[in-house]
Amino acid sequence: MEIAMELPLDADGFLRRECPNCQREFKWHHGPTADAPEGIVYPPVHWCPLCGRSAALDSWWTQAQIEYQQGVLAASAGDILADAFKAVRSDHLRLEVNRSAQPAQPDPLVEPDDMVIVAPPCHPWEPVKVPDEARGPFFCLLCGEAFAV
Ligand SMILES: [Zn+2]
Ligand SMILES: [Zn+2]
Repeated sequence: MEIAMELPLDADGFLRRECPNCQREFKWHHGPTADAPEGIVYPPVHWCPLCGRSAALDSWWTQAQIEYQQGVLAASAGDILADAFKAVRSDHLRLEVNRSAQPAQPDPLVEPDDMVIVAPPCHPWEPVKVPDEARGPFFCLLCGEAFAV
């Protein structure tokens, strides 16, 4: 069974992220940009454009994204269990799912078109969006190189 967990992108295709080191939010482009070199292989870590520290690709969830994912899982837990028990096909196992006790699906997240776009000179085809009030130097998402705008 698949659980749909769509995270919204803004109008330019950017996904909101939160740095696990400095806890500040920025956005990176979801997937390769139109200007990315053919066959680009992304590094296993990304660098925070705001503090310049790196972390693995799956450690950049915002609080709202974590809460949303937990909400979707909680709302789907009964279905997941029922599905798993169906696969077992045992006469000795019975599972009744009380759907009224299941929490409702959370409201989908909405991504506003905020923040300003900045592009590093070292990887100009991989721009990021940083909060309006953020002041450089910023750091390249892909290599951690500092740059001013
Ligand atoms: Zn950071
Ligand atoms: Zn770079």
